[in-house]
Amino acid sequence: MNNKDIKLKNDKFKKSRGGYSRWLLISCEKCKNSMFTYQKDGSGILKRLYFDRIVGLDSKNFGNLICRKCRIVIGTPIIYKKEHRKAYRLFVGAIEKKIINENKIKKFLHIK
Ligand SMILES: [Zn+2]
Repeated sequence: MNNKDIKLKNDKFKKSRGGYSRWLLISCEKCKNSMFTYQKDGSGILKRLYFDRIVGLDSKNFGNLICRKCRIVIGTPIIYKKEHRKAYRLFVGAIEKKIINENKIKKFLHIK
């Protein structure tokens, strides 16, 4: 992974949500394990995680989203029909999120 990969994506999905994005660090609510980073586009609550916005998740298959540490299921895979887009529907209260900056992401993803 290189620096290019952690640039915020700027595409039609971002534009349709007002053109404003930030990085979130997503953690398991139960065991507090930091799982991956996520580009959140626009305001509004986090109901689903779009597959193309997740960075640092080592699972390549599109199955249930599971915390690697405590094995709890965080979300289930769906296709968001309106945009024909792969996403995880999150279970209520399954995650914690906090806004992080690019430097912290690099640390988290072990990018020098
Ligand atoms: Zn966990």
